Amino acid sequence: MHKIGFGYDIHRLEAGRRLVLGGVDIPYAAGLLGHSDGDALVHAVIDALLGALGEGDIGTQFPDTDPRIEGARSTGLLETVMGLVRSRRAEIVNVDAVIVAEEPKMGPHIPAMKAALAPILGLPQNSLGLKAKTNEGLGPVGERQAIACYAVTLIRLPG
Ligand code: MG
Repeated sequence: MHKIGFGYDIHRLEAGRRLVLGGVDIPYAAGLLGHSDGDALVHAVIDALLGALGEGDIGTQFPDTDPRIEGARSTGLLETVMGLVRSRRAEIVNVDAVIVAEEPKMGPHIPAMKAALAPILGLPQNSLGLKAKTNEGLGPVGERQAIACYAVTLIRLPG
């Protein structure tokens, strides 16, 4: 059986914070606010996987009241979710994601993001789609107040 999952996340940008997206440190004047490292791309991917598994969402799996989440690397949370994927004997077919950010330019960082995330997901890099867009100056994302990410996945489950 195959199932698809969809995830979305948005985090506010705050001046002076470290910017981590797709498991990669990106030099910029602002970073994403959050209890964890604020990695909205990894959070969207996690929600897509949990959706496909029928296992709720990132908030139910990792409540922000949990002190272990404070400052946690989101790639570590993704590794935990991959444990759930494996325990269900599921296999990820592919993941496709979009980063919507006005600044900084994400394109140059996509190879590093793929290199960081594909091994965690157990995917060849050509089964992990990462695209970057701006919001054409529109709304809070366009005004550089936030970065938003979307992700879909297809998983194969036994039976
Ligand atoms: Mg989030």
